[in-house]
Amino acid sequence: MAKVIVKDLHKSYGDNEVLKGLNLEVQENEVVCMIGPSGSGKSTFLRCLNDLEVPTQGQVIVNGHDLSDKATNINLVRENIGMVFQHFNLFPHLSVLQNVTLAPVELKKETQAQAEKTALELLETVGLSDKANAMPKSLSGGQKQRVAIARALAMHPQIMLFDEPTSALDPEMVGDVLDVMKKLAAQGMTMIVVTHEMGFAKEVADRVVFMADGLIQENGKPEDVFEHPKSPRLQDFLQKVI
Ligand code: ADP
Ligand code: MG
Repeated sequence: MAKVIVKDLHKSYGDNEVLKGLNLEVQENEVVCMIGPSGSGKSTFLRCLNDLEVPTQGQVIVNGHDLSDKATNINLVRENIGMVFQHFNLFPHLSVLQNVTLAPVELKKETQAQAEKTALELLETVGLSDKANAMPKSLSGGQKQRVAIARALAMHPQIMLFDEPTSALDPEMVGDVLDVMKKLAAQGMTMIVVTHEMGFAKEVADRVVFMADGLIQENGKPEDVFEHPKSPRLQDFLQKVI
């Protein structure tokens, strides 16, 4: 069964219709990269997937749960969706280890010892074993983002959403973060990644979705979308970003 099903999704802010009827399915283990110009509704779309935004119309089904169904326990759905933002949003007053253990202890009722064991394993995965006791302010942007990824993974999510995770990073930090995301993809994580990193999308995505003007304009294999863009809108976009 698809991990994410989106049907005729509309979202308006006042009379500004940002999403104009999107349809998308994401299968288990699939990596979908979303590209498109600024303001086209990519972040709004991701936020609709974990109920941070409520659609004006349409249906979002995550892990089989219809988000608009009153019987759906949205907190349980959210626990299964990890989200990583452009700005890392680490808790500044907590150490790296505490940032990673907080939610599993508070929300999943893991013991501190369990949560720390998992956290240390995840910090190793993201290449930050030596930073467990560091405070966020002493880390580089790339390191902060890798902590944010470890923190999201600590909840054992079934789906990971990334919203331009490398856009705020200095260029020399981007590779390390993308490498962590590649590793996750190789492990079979279901991922939706909004990104301007076309190299990453070409290499890692199973599917690339091009959004513009509040609609999915093209949706296909990376080689088709990048090598044979159908619409002038995508041709123009690719010329600007590649
Ligand atoms: P993208 O991520 O593709 O750059 P966004 O989803 O952030 O696009 O924004 C799409 C449009 O929705 C923009 O015009 C933006 O101003 C508008 N928008 C986004 N969030 C809000 C909000 N909370 N209130 C009002 N307008 C918003
Ligand atoms: Mg955005």
